[in-house]
Amino acid sequence: MTHQGECPKCGKRLLHVRIETIVGQNNGNDDVRCLSYSCIHCNAVLHVQLDPRAKPRRRSGIERAV
Ligand SMILES: [Zn+2]
Repeated sequence: MTHQGECPKCGKRLLHVRIETIVGQNNGNDDVRCLSYSCIHCNAVLHVQLDPRAKPRRRSGIERAV
């Protein structure tokens, strides 16, 4: 398997990404759990998405450290 993806900032091959849990602020409504994907070399954020495990409502009490 050949890895073709490279970081748009530092230009290194993107073999790993750092995934962090961040909070998306939903226009003053409930905060939404999100995931950010960043380059492990230069920490540039490559992508942010909603956490697929996050419940649409507020915290359900199941807080898992990532
Ligand atoms: Zn980079």
